Amino acid sequence: MRRPQKTKTLPAVEIIRRGKTIKTRITTDADNNANARAWGKIREVDSVRRGPEANDTCEGGDPDAETLCPYAEDRMKVELVSITPKAEKIMAYCARVSSPHQDNPEYAGLLKYCADHGHWSVFEMADATFEIVTSRAIAQQLLRHKSFSFQEFSQRYAEVMKYEAYAPRRQDDKNRQNSIDDLPKEIQRWWYAEQDETWRKAKWVYDIALERGVAKECARMILPLNTQTRLYMKGSIRSWIHYLDVRCGADTQLEHREIALAIRTLLAAELPTLAEAFEWV
Ligand SMILES: Cc1cc2nc3c(=O)[nH]c(=O)nc-3n(C[C@H](O)[C@H](O)[C@H](O)COP(=O)(O)OP(=O)(O)OC[C@H]3O[C@@H](n4cnc5c(N)ncnc54)[C@H](O)[C@@H]3O)c2cc1C
Repeated sequence: MRRPQKTKTLPAVEIIRRGKTIKTRITTDADNNANARAWGKIREVDSVRRGPEANDTCEGGDPDAETLCPYAEDRMKVELVSITPKAEKIMAYCARVSSPHQDNPEYAGLLKYCADHGHWSVFEMADATFEIVTSRAIAQQLLRHKSFSFQEFSQRYAEVMKYEAYAPRRQDDKNRQNSIDDLPKEIQRWWYAEQDETWRKAKWVYDIALERGVAKECARMILPLNTQTRLYMKGSIRSWIHYLDVRCGADTQLEHREIALAIRTLLAAELPTLAEAFEWV
């Protein structure tokens, strides 16, 4: 079992527990409006009428503006929807199936023992479900975790409304699946502007296609990978332990890692013994 990566930075994910936002780095509407004003030059651009060559320089916006992303469309969100009540107690109760003391109220030592010795089936006795809002690019990675059950927003049934703006990072020369967060601000501003323009152009064509009677399942083919989606991901605690082990690691794409860290925060609050055993906190 890999040790989880510790992080001090707040994830760029809204984390919701029992209906309450417990952590967020999302800007407020007031911030967004101020950012948009600072970036008036780009906001006023009618992207749909501009040719692809029009924005091939890194110009745009107020170079002194602190915020690199003026658009602040919705960001990622993670909410704990449900978890087996008294999950740790239930797992310990089931683990003691062969013991005459199944109701023993002390279970921390037992669960830690099971964690240390790979007694995994114990952790299949409880489940948790999360609602995750993210891009289609990251949803595709989430859906690969085959031991989970999923329910995802249908782009065939409902209209797509939003996209998520993401910061650009530099391609790592040595590791093709890694990126480094040291790009100059001009490139970052240019990238945010391009994301917005690309989205608006795609959404414009998408909306016209729907108006002209094209089916949603066909019209969506024009949409970029940063189109926002929403899904429910349900799995046993065993699956979540494995998922966190893989997706909190530095090998995982940052945006996905931020989701995994948000899930870890929420699970740690529900499963304090396992949080200690697996060093989630
Ligand atoms: C850094 C990184 C790079 C990747 N690159 C690529 C790529 O280039 N191309 C690509 O196609 N994919 C890629 N992947 C995806 C990867 O190969 C896996 O498909 C993905 O991580 C899902 O993991 P999993 O198969 O372990 O599924 P999970 O559902 O997370 O775990 C399944 C595992 O859980 C265990 N298990 C078995 N039974 C149970 C049970 N009843 N309950 C709970 N757990 C059980 C088993 O160990 C099983 O293997 C990448 C993943 C990472 C993290």
